[in-house]
Amino acid sequence: MKHLSIKSKVVFWYAFSMFTIIFLILMVLILAGRKAALDDARESLIISTDMAVNNVTVTRGHLIIDDDFIYYMDHTWIIVTKESGELISGLAPEGFPGDIDYQADKIRKTGHGDNVFLVYDRLIENQATGKIWIRGMTPADLSVRDPALSRIIRLFMVILPILIFLSLVGGWLITRRAFLPLRKINDTVALIQEGSDLSKRVHSGEKSPRDEIQVTAAAFDQMLDRISDSFEREKQFTNDASHELRTPVAVILAQCDYALENIDDQAEVMNAIRVIHKQTIRMSSLIDQLLLLARADRSAIIPNPELADISLLLEEAAASCLKDAEKKNIRIEVDAPEGIYIHMDRILLGRALENLLSNSIKYGKNGGVVTAIISTSYLNSSDGVSLKIRDNGKGIDEKDLDKIWNRFYRADPAGPEPGMGLGLAITKWIIEAHNGTIDVTSQPDVFTEFIIFLPF
Ligand code: ADP
Repeated sequence: MKHLSIKSKVVFWYAFSMFTIIFLILMVLILAGRKAALDDARESLIISTDMAVNNVTVTRGHLIIDDDFIYYMDHTWIIVTKESGELISGLAPEGFPGDIDYQADKIRKTGHGDNVFLVYDRLIENQATGKIWIRGMTPADLSVRDPALSRIIRLFMVILPILIFLSLVGGWLITRRAFLPLRKINDTVALIQEGSDLSKRVHSGEKSPRDEIQVTAAAFDQMLDRISDSFEREKQFTNDASHELRTPVAVILAQCDYALENIDDQAEVMNAIRVIHKQTIRMSSLIDQLLLLARADRSAIIPNPELADISLLLEEAAASCLKDAEKKNIRIEVDAPEGIYIHMDRILLGRALENLLSNSIKYGKNGGVVTAIISTSYLNSSDGVSLKIRDNGKGIDEKDLDKIWNRFYRADPAGPEPGMGLGLAITKWIIEAHNGTIDVTSQPDVFTEFIIFLPF
């Protein structure tokens, strides 16, 4: 059994159980049938022999057998013999062994194979006639006493192997069909291993899976979908990251060459250093963000929650954006009632708020206004803080609304605003790490509003 497939094991077990059950039923039928036949034989043997005895009399030294003496009744044969064994009257059944001793009033079993008989002897003793034996004989065989039951048993014996064969074939076909998706899973895995092609799927062929194995196959396909998605995203991410890093590196290299060529011209060298400094800051910020995302992906950053005032955190974030806001003559209005405490990682959440505020300023219109409003809600299902950051700047096109959360996605990469498209991906992760949600609504050239919900 050790090296058999599950399919074979199931089929063999199925056939074995079926064989055992039918065999046991058959044995019970045979044994019970035989016992009933034997009991029936004993009863009718005694009755018939006793009746015969009543019909045999000795009158004035003569043995008289009545006219209504019955030699055969209900499968029982009767013979009347002298002590020497000489037959006076009656007939023994075919196959009955002739050399059976006489023993009065005792039922005995004799014969073998198909010719098993019960024998019952009665003795009439008379001085004139000598010993007269009256012998009853009846077959104890089930096929004689209950031919219908015997026929059923014989039929079973023919049907049993056919049933077992059919159950084997049926079981084999059913399990083969049931296990087909598993074979497909194996084939798919082998194909993926051979060609590293993650587009292969099991496709069990059923639209809605009907059994456990089809459910497994569908789950396997879904898992492949997710793995291939994340592979694609990973590839895209690496592409984008290297692209983003290549530009500042190229600029730095060019500036280094330029400075070296004009090493005597202090003004040019200073210019080159300024550009290199700017690009290095950009690179450093990019590397910093990439590291944060990479650690977030590995779940290496676990928010370090402490009870802190979120309004205060928002004020601090707004203050750090003030300089940029002033450059664009943007007014920041914060409406946050003091003393709203939630469990938060101050550094991470502060970074998320700064990201959102600096975006509102970056994409807000000159002379515009950015509002940040905090309110609390105490609805059973959503006890927490709601935070809205709104600007009246360029807005986001509807087609971009879903994508702005993706890493390196910028709705307008050629636009004048500097950026690398990582801020919102980081912000979303921070909010979700606080078990919160973040959403956005916008109307191009009218407004953009980010809505955050953080549970208490
Ligand atoms: P970055 O600002 O560095 O490009 P982000 O991930 O912060 O990257 O934002 C992704 C994109 O979402 C931006 O490029 C911009 O197109 C859009 N976006 C984000 N915030 C705003 C906003 N307040 N108004 C308009 N567009 C926005």
